[in-house]
Amino acid sequence: MNERYDLVVIGAGPAGEKAAAQAAYFGKRVAIVDRSPEPGGNAASRTGVPTKTLREAALYLTGFGRRELYGLGLELDRATVLARMRARTSEVVQLSVAAVRENLERHGIELIQGAARLAEGREVVVTGPGKERRLAAEVVLVATGSRPYRPPGIPFEDPNVHDSESILRLDEIPDRLVVVGGGPVGCEYASIFLALGSDVTLVDRADRLLPFVDGEISRALAEVFTGRGMRLQFGVEVTSVGRRRGELELVLSTGETLRPETALFAAGRAGTTEGLGLEEAGVEVDARGRIVVDETYRTTAEGIYAAGDVIGPPGLASVSMEQGRVAACRAFDIPFKETVDQLPPIGVYSIPEVGMAGMTEEEAAEAGIDAESGRGWFAANARARIMGSTDGMVKLVFRRDDRRLLGVHVLGDDASELIHLGQAILHQRGTIDYFIHATFNVPTLSEAYKYAAYEGLQRLAGR
Ligand SMILES: Cc1cc2nc3c(=O)[nH]c(=O)nc-3n(C[C@H](O)[C@H](O)[C@H](O)COP(=O)(O)OP(=O)(O)OC[C@H]3O[C@@H](n4cnc5c(N)ncnc54)[C@H](O)[C@@H]3O)c2cc1C
Repeated sequence: MNERYDLVVIGAGPAGEKAAAQAAYFGKRVAIVDRSPEPGGNAASRTGVPTKTLREAALYLTGFGRRELYGLGLELDRATVLARMRARTSEVVQLSVAAVRENLERHGIELIQGAARLAEGREVVVTGPGKERRLAAEVVLVATGSRPYRPPGIPFEDPNVHDSESILRLDEIPDRLVVVGGGPVGCEYASIFLALGSDVTLVDRADRLLPFVDGEISRALAEVFTGRGMRLQFGVEVTSVGRRRGELELVLSTGETLRPETALFAAGRAGTTEGLGLEEAGVEVDARGRIVVDETYRTTAEGIYAAGDVIGPPGLASVSMEQGRVAACRAFDIPFKETVDQLPPIGVYSIPEVGMAGMTEEEAAEAGIDAESGRGWFAANARARIMGSTDGMVKLVFRRDDRRLLGVHVLGDDASELIHLGQAILHQRGTIDYFIHATFNVPTLSEAYKYAAYEGLQRLAGR
């Protein structure tokens, strides 16, 4: 028998949950289907929440970056510490899953467990525990997320070769870890395991870490990593992976062979579209398997929308949520949230963190803008000195003629939080004068904004 809904959402990750809640808030009858028994998607149970909890635990347990301040380095029992951290991670995951479940219940959204596929006439067929269900909907939203991309030829069946999700199941901290990929996920894991005491080598075919961030910030992060003992190899590819006399071997394009205990391939993500019946439903995907949508998140099939990782970059939970909300509003002509933020902040949770919003110095130059920049160094910041965390800076990129802020870049502790102040000024189309005139609490890391603006003014004056 057919069951009728205004909206059926496939996938209860950040995009699906927020879309469902948005539509239900405005009175729509909504069902959300997920093949996992626990809602929250990858973000809650396999990526964002577990990695952030692991990172927090690593910093707390090792006193990383603060050890030398008090001469109190903690010795970890490397054989058991990951199991203990996993217990904590599992607690936080359960809290996150419960929060999603509670949000769905509060909005009167029906949560259905099962694998969903599209059928003719905007019907969603759910195969799960119990009998098959057919849900008819005015609108269907596909929010099925992504999974780690596994490059061909890499033996992921080897227990010591991991992708960005399976690495979370490690039982022991590896003595020697090779991370292949210097994007956000690679940088995050490489620095977490460095904090935990692994000997880490990071390899990337690009010529720097995090190619999308400001070049100066990327170089400064690389300096912090190498200063802490990480080995970085750029412009290098892994040509083969295998075992020789029992030892794991990674052969590089330089001819060098690395013999780590464990290898992590952080090679990006691929959309989860298999078994959804997209082709039959007339939903077009691009050459990389991502669902094609317009600016309202409408796919090529009438009444079918898509949002989140399944439509491709940036692959952030934060952005996925906003896409889900906009898709729901657009699908039902709800005049509430019609476009996604054009200046989203990006947070990279490496140790130290990176935050950015707006243009990099390179992008401003490419756009032919006569731009200047200013830096507030944490080495000169009272709070950072007290914390013993003086690596990094706040960097402002602004137009020379009217000092209009174009981009904000932060490297350092709490960069993912600090970035929001810069983002707010960018949204208000403000100038760096705001930071000159505003009074900041002292001591705070935020005060580095003021000194970045002062340095910018000095550069303008040619000093
Ligand atoms: C290591 C790592 C760390 C990250 N850290 C952060 C971070 O700190 N901050 C941030 O903003 N982003 C982070 N991300 C990115 C973030 O995890 C994703 O952008 C986010 O999960 C995407 O949300 P989504 O709703 O599109 O999909 P997902 O979270 O992938 O959820 C999709 C859901 O769809 C379900 N599903 C799939 N197919 C079907 C089907 N056929 N039927 C029924 N259900 C189905 C799945 O079970 C899943 O629950 C991280 C990613 C990685 C890999």
